[in-house]
Amino acid sequence: MVSKMDYQKVLEDIRKEVEPLLDKGLVADYIPELAKVDITKFGIHLLFLDDSSFSVGDTEEKFSIQSISKVFMLAHCVSHIGKKVYDRINVEPSGDPFNSLVQLEYENGIPRNPFINSGALVVTDLLISHLQDPRQQFLDFIRELVGQNDIYYDKQIARSEKACGYKNAAMVNLMKSYGNIENDVEEVLDLYFDFCSVSMTCSELAKAFRVFANHGKGVIDEKKYISESQFKRITAIMQTCGFYDEAGEFAFRVGLPGKSGVGGGIAAILPSQYSIVVWSPGLNKKGNSLAGLKALELFTTITGTSIF
Ligand code: GLN
Repeated sequence: MVSKMDYQKVLEDIRKEVEPLLDKGLVADYIPELAKVDITKFGIHLLFLDDSSFSVGDTEEKFSIQSISKVFMLAHCVSHIGKKVYDRINVEPSGDPFNSLVQLEYENGIPRNPFINSGALVVTDLLISHLQDPRQQFLDFIRELVGQNDIYYDKQIARSEKACGYKNAAMVNLMKSYGNIENDVEEVLDLYFDFCSVSMTCSELAKAFRVFANHGKGVIDEKKYISESQFKRITAIMQTCGFYDEAGEFAFRVGLPGKSGVGGGIAAILPSQYSIVVWSPGLNKKGNSLAGLKALELFTTITGTSIF
């Protein structure tokens, strides 16, 4: 373990080391609006449960959290409807890309897990069925976790994704044909695209994610957002499914439960210790941040703070 004082230097050294990787990845151009983001952006923010924090780079700039939102969606959903969620979604790693359709057909419209697109679409459907105003309530949930009101959906990004969201549309339709979508297909897609479009800074996201480091309890308000058993399950799914067909690689190289998004963000936790968020928009072939993955690998290696 390095002493608290060294963390700033550790993060600065990491930034220097990953700098050559920043322009090597590819932005997610299947969402045209995301392709406009400057690929050389880089930020990393580390936040401990005792409130000490360390930051390097573009940590106060909002970016599209995309699939990282799936963790909040699942937490929000289980906090409202409990373990019934898992009747309609499995909890096994998919070993396939996040937007793959192949397993869905031979597994009768039941998604492999909640952190691939098909699973998050079913979570969205459940939220529509069980909540009065899921669009507003979800935003309120994230705002409460961050402790700030200035968190919004980015409608431009949501519209841009919807205009080209053919695969997600195919998935919802396929699941609807198996009876695993209750609501109107367009309504589910629109809400899902909004959920993915939430934009946050690294430091805001680290605050929101800290609830998972703190076993489901808010650090400031001490509110129990999810139970200990829900925390255990969500964290386990992050560990096994948070990086699609690169979940094994992430466990191997980084060794923290976490979640990535095609906006180039990665959020991870060390239970009972800290949350850490890195943002670098250039992605590798699996859709995970190239420099972000390397930065977290260096971080847990240098500090000796993985779960293993
Ligand atoms: N909104 C994106 C999609 O549905 C989220 C994917 C991701 O971040 N991996 O394709």
